[in-house]
Amino acid sequence: LLCLVLVSVTEAEYLKYKDPKQPLNVRIKDLLKRMTLDEKIGQMVQIERSLATPDVLKKYCIGSVLSGGGSVPAAKASAETWVQMVNEIQKGALSTRLGIPMIYGIDAVHGHNNVYNATIFPHNIGLGVTRDPVLIKKIGDATALEVRATGIPYVFAPCIAVCRDPRWGRCYESYSEDPKIVRTMTEIIPGLQGDIPGHSRKGVPFVAGKTKVAACAKHYVGDGGTTKGINENNTVISYHGLLSTHMPAYYDSIIKGVATVMVSYSSWNGIKMHANRDLVTGYLKNKLRFRGFVISDWEGIDRITSPPHANYSYSIQAGVSAGIDMIMVPYTYTEFIDGLTYQVKNNIIPISRIDDAVTRILRVKFVMGLFENPLADLSLVSQVGSKEHRELAREAVRKSLVLLKNGKSANTPLLPLSKKAAKVLVAGSHADNLGYQCGGWTITWQGLGGNDLTTGTTILNAVKNTVDPTTEVVYNEKPDANFLKSNEFSYAVVVVGEPPYAETFGDSLNLTIPEPGPSTITNICGSIKCVVVLITGRPVVIQPYLSTIDALVAAWLPGTEGQGVADLLFGYYGFTGKLARTWFKTVDQLPMNVGDRHYDPLFPFGFGLTTYPTKY
Ligand code: BGC
Repeated sequence: LLCLVLVSVTEAEYLKYKDPKQPLNVRIKDLLKRMTLDEKIGQMVQIERSLATPDVLKKYCIGSVLSGGGSVPAAKASAETWVQMVNEIQKGALSTRLGIPMIYGIDAVHGHNNVYNATIFPHNIGLGVTRDPVLIKKIGDATALEVRATGIPYVFAPCIAVCRDPRWGRCYESYSEDPKIVRTMTEIIPGLQGDIPGHSRKGVPFVAGKTKVAACAKHYVGDGGTTKGINENNTVISYHGLLSTHMPAYYDSIIKGVATVMVSYSSWNGIKMHANRDLVTGYLKNKLRFRGFVISDWEGIDRITSPPHANYSYSIQAGVSAGIDMIMVPYTYTEFIDGLTYQVKNNIIPISRIDDAVTRILRVKFVMGLFENPLADLSLVSQVGSKEHRELAREAVRKSLVLLKNGKSANTPLLPLSKKAAKVLVAGSHADNLGYQCGGWTITWQGLGGNDLTTGTTILNAVKNTVDPTTEVVYNEKPDANFLKSNEFSYAVVVVGEPPYAETFGDSLNLTIPEPGPSTITNICGSIKCVVVLITGRPVVIQPYLSTIDALVAAWLPGTEGQGVADLLFGYYGFTGKLARTWFKTVDQLPMNVGDRHYDPLFPFGFGLTTYPTKY
């Protein structure tokens, strides 16, 4: 009976927050004043998809759900399956007392990378080479459409790290060592979120409706500056250095209306960013006037202590007091909720801090139209991996490759390759492996898996598609001397590089490409004219082999559209890419960045040979 009375009272009441005609601030205030402490704290929590049953969402009024690195509803799940899953969870959130929609987030760091058959763009290290704001904005548009097609409104991208040391396992997630290039590439944000050109958002989040997603600039701040590139480590730099190298791209992102910012696992001069109130609240929120929400990294507050989770109540206090609004818990949510509730009830954390966090989270949800359109439909599913998006990715591949050497002398260029050669060899561990070509953060967290991982064109298939029908393409991953002697090859395309990795798994102190990469290069290039195509997440040790190689191409991690590589090798388009990173001679030179006093690179920042298209 009590329930019935309550329902009829609520129904009779005019709920301002539900009225889209009301101004944003009125809606936020109206909703906030109706919320209990439990409901507020629930909004601050982001949990892992596998735990997010509608019941849990309902019971705790959970504000957000995520798919981390490789968290998919089922192997090769279709867009329809994703939509169904997200909607199912959303229904739990909508059935709460106040019906506040949850926001589902996912890493879409080079296209919608957890989803089978999605378009996978080159990783950021390749996109930085393009220095092309128009292209990156289009990539943002396409990514937003593919993500929204699966019912998801929020991405943990772009990574605007300024990677200063390629030994860092996340170097490929960074556009450049140069803050200016990273700033240019923040044009992906108006692509992802939509924009009104020329309009400064002044820190207010902006997301333009059902075909756009909320973006997340990450990882705030200084993630790319850690000592020796050790992941999650300490960035030792002056305040001035921090502001001039690592901060500028945040400034731009905020001007462009980025909806959220993710805090870095790393420390700045010994202080964990997740506990750094001066930089999170003082600088980001107060000085830069960022009005969206700040999200922690995965178990980021746990890692405030060493070992992680050693003193969780301290972590909760330090993280929330620093100014983190949404906490990516993602498993220990009941412990977090109990801990934060206790601290608010005992005045350890003031309610004003909770209200600030919830205000920001609600602001993003209102701005995005989630209250009006909480459930996804199937109208966009054909966008996933569409022909148009794959064409765009292929264009991005063409613009992201860098030609480092072309011929043993300037008069004897090897590229463009003849497509009418009688017999050509394609070799190397990376020539016919889509997983390797895409790198980490592809379907699985570490990107492990070969051609079955997703759909696309390997470089081997791209070469086959491109040469004349009369040309014989022979594929041998690792040919021996006899094989090379007994065949008359016109030239060889040798595709080698790093195996895929993500985060700490990619940290490397030697930056060598593992065997059989080097021996494949020396065996083949010693006897046949060869172009070596490197598939790597960063510059690697190449100097020892350089003299035997005829032509050298840095292809980075080009993604699913390997045809873009063949477009350049065979001269359908010219090479235009210029290094957005310094290529070192030996690792003991590191860190070495453009502008350094002792600058003695193998290939300097900005280097890249050009070729002209062949007239076919
Ligand atoms: C990474 C973030 C990512 C998050 C969620 C973390 O391990 O550092 O970049 O957004 O996981 O997958």
